[in-house]
Amino acid sequence: MGTVVRCHGCSLVSMVEHTGELVRCSYDEDYYRRAGAPGPGYRDYFGAEAAPRSEISSALADMVLSLTLGARRVLDLGCGGGFLVNALAERGVDATGLDGSDHAIERARANTGGGQFTRADIGASGLVGEAVFDVVTMIDVIEHLPDPVEALRWAAGLTAPGGAIVLLTPRYGGRLLAEQGAAYVHFNSDHMYYFTEDTLRTTITRATGSDMVEIEDVLAFVCKQGVSIPDSMARKYSMERESMLAVLSP
Ligand SMILES: [Zn+2]
Repeated sequence: MGTVVRCHGCSLVSMVEHTGELVRCSYDEDYYRRAGAPGPGYRDYFGAEAAPRSEISSALADMVLSLTLGARRVLDLGCGGGFLVNALAERGVDATGLDGSDHAIERARANTGGGQFTRADIGASGLVGEAVFDVVTMIDVIEHLPDPVEALRWAAGLTAPGGAIVLLTPRYGGRLLAEQGAAYVHFNSDHMYYFTEDTLRTTITRATGSDMVEIEDVLAFVCKQGVSIPDSMARKYSMERESMLAVLSP
């Protein structure tokens, strides 16, 4: 764990090493299977955690499709093991996932769920200009990226005219932080940035120039879309990690 700092200019909170560099982590096989070992990552992402992840991804897929009626092509940035991509593909969507982790993409491809997968870093030059996606999703991703403004600008460049970006990230500064203080669950993680609703809105506007942004608690949002929330999702996004969902038209 590093040091939590807040920008004097824009109030955005980040986690830095003693050198002042943002904390970094590698998304290798160990990251996805910590099995109790110290360090950021998942206990057993593709094992015990796969079933709830699948359930949550199904609800998120239903939410995305009810929000963006008629969406045919969806890109999931930071797709990890491809759970959301495959849930979208099951629903008849032309779904592509992109992730910078070799291991995650290898596992996603091995699980033939109908999605297509690309191993590339968010912001990679080859994809810019292909504005063909009706929806670009970034689920629990932006907090892991060294330059969230640049990443969002890049995502906007991949979004078709009239399309939407759907973004989910932990909400900093709420009940969990107040209760846990320095032991806040996300401090011992690989998160470089911690967004409040205000700093997320500012980041989005700086990146895309758009102020057409709706931000709400993720569970309230999903509920409002008429999608029923599985218990695993209620637990994850309330008790374990208060989170917000942003929808923007870049
Ligand atoms: Zn700043």
